[in-house]
Amino acid sequence: MARRVKALPSPAQTKGFVETLPDIFAAINLSGGKGTTLAGRTLDKRGSGGDTNFGVILTKDKPIIIDNDIRVRKEFATGFRRITRKSPGLMLHTHHNFDHTSDNAHFHKQGAVSFGTETVRREMEREFGAGIWVSQMAGRLLEVEKFDGKIGIDPPVVTFENETTIRYGGRTLEMIAIGHCHTKSDTVIWMPEEKVLFAGDAFTYRTQPVVRIGNILNWIDTLNRLLKFPARQIIPGHGPLPPRENKCLGEFKTYLTRLRDRTAAALRKEGTPVKAAKSVRMDEYRNWFRAPLVYVNALKMARELRGKI
Ligand SMILES: [Zn+2]
Repeated sequence: MARRVKALPSPAQTKGFVETLPDIFAAINLSGGKGTTLAGRTLDKRGSGGDTNFGVILTKDKPIIIDNDIRVRKEFATGFRRITRKSPGLMLHTHHNFDHTSDNAHFHKQGAVSFGTETVRREMEREFGAGIWVSQMAGRLLEVEKFDGKIGIDPPVVTFENETTIRYGGRTLEMIAIGHCHTKSDTVIWMPEEKVLFAGDAFTYRTQPVVRIGNILNWIDTLNRLLKFPARQIIPGHGPLPPRENKCLGEFKTYLTRLRDRTAAALRKEGTPVKAAKSVRMDEYRNWFRAPLVYVNALKMARELRGKI
């Protein structure tokens, strides 16, 4: 492979609440990029792109929110209040991670009824029981240290296994569990009438994904399934808002496919996952957010190819 490859374009920076279709909002990059650090290291100095994204959907009844993070409670509330004075009626979860569920108790207290898979509930309980619920997020600019030992978990009130359809306030939302991709149980939220897909962390736009507890091989297959949705707008779990329609998913699938193929080739040549990961180059993605994740992602890929999930 040539050393110098043409870089794909940088993602456009988005910040704040964006109305993607009438009364359907994506809350993008609320902390201004503080979520882009790992173990105290700034992964991206552009100050944009790695934060968790959330959703707000207005209905004829109360609003529906998608995911939450206690660390950006204030930023979320500020944007939310500009849209509506009502409190959330429903809260839907794309997966169990701290940066998508840690403010559940706050919204439950406001009367929101939450939905997630049974595995989301179990994974939250497992991480809390293992004492890693807060500590695994430590060392980032968006600090969690002050929450250690102080916050519990508040798992979804309503759980399901595979799919559930919610009809509320004139909206229809399908929560579809897509299995082990970014986490053990990822869910996409599909609005069939408006053709909007909230993809959670199964899709990050021009942002290196976090694959730590994922299953990349299954993830690639699952993206084929997501590509079949006739989406007008896809909202990623992290990264800026992509242009309309689902071309962006193909771009992300190509990233994971190249990661797989290059890691497999490196493994054959180098022998061990660590050596292989060090030699994997994803230079055309150097302008994507969180570029330093290439090594850890290749390492996870190599271990997976060796049969370890
Ligand atoms: Zn996330």
